[in-house]
Amino acid sequence: MLAHSIVSGAGRLAEYATPEGLEKLRQRFEARVDRDGPIVGPGLGQCWVWTGSRTRSGYASIYTRVNGRRSYTLAHRVAWYLEHGSLPDTDIVQVCGVRHCVRCSHLVDTEHRITGLVLTDDDVRAMRFERAAVDGGPRPKVRDLAAKYGISVGAASLILNGRRRRLDP
Ligand SMILES: [Zn+2]
Repeated sequence: MLAHSIVSGAGRLAEYATPEGLEKLRQRFEARVDRDGPIVGPGLGQCWVWTGSRTRSGYASIYTRVNGRRSYTLAHRVAWYLEHGSLPDTDIVQVCGVRHCVRCSHLVDTEHRITGLVLTDDDVRAMRFERAAVDGGPRPKVRDLAAKYGISVGAASLILNGRRRRLDP
């Protein structure tokens, strides 16, 4: 279970911005990539699928340190960072539709911020249910729920307080 904030946005991987740091990150990343994934569309070539941990929504995630804090980053964002040396402030999505694919040629940035568009309605319901802590347990932190579901803390907050993603009852 991921219990730390998912990293998004440009510059958040700054701790890896040295040649040594980048090489370490690349090695840890590569160790969890299986290049023998499925071919899901003509001309795409094989998906490179993540063998490491995933968010509840099915996206690849990798342990990272950000500003000295233990954290997780969506691994397809790390793939982008390793390829391009920077990260967009927007969502990066898989054109192949395989959520745990980390092949750069299958990734595009979008005009969307990390909005929670990636969540299904069931994800949204489950996240709100957890936050409500109806079983009497401790209320999970918004930050932790954001990490678990692979969205930004801001988006999680908007979704949890109902200002985004109204669902039919
Ligand atoms: Zn793919």
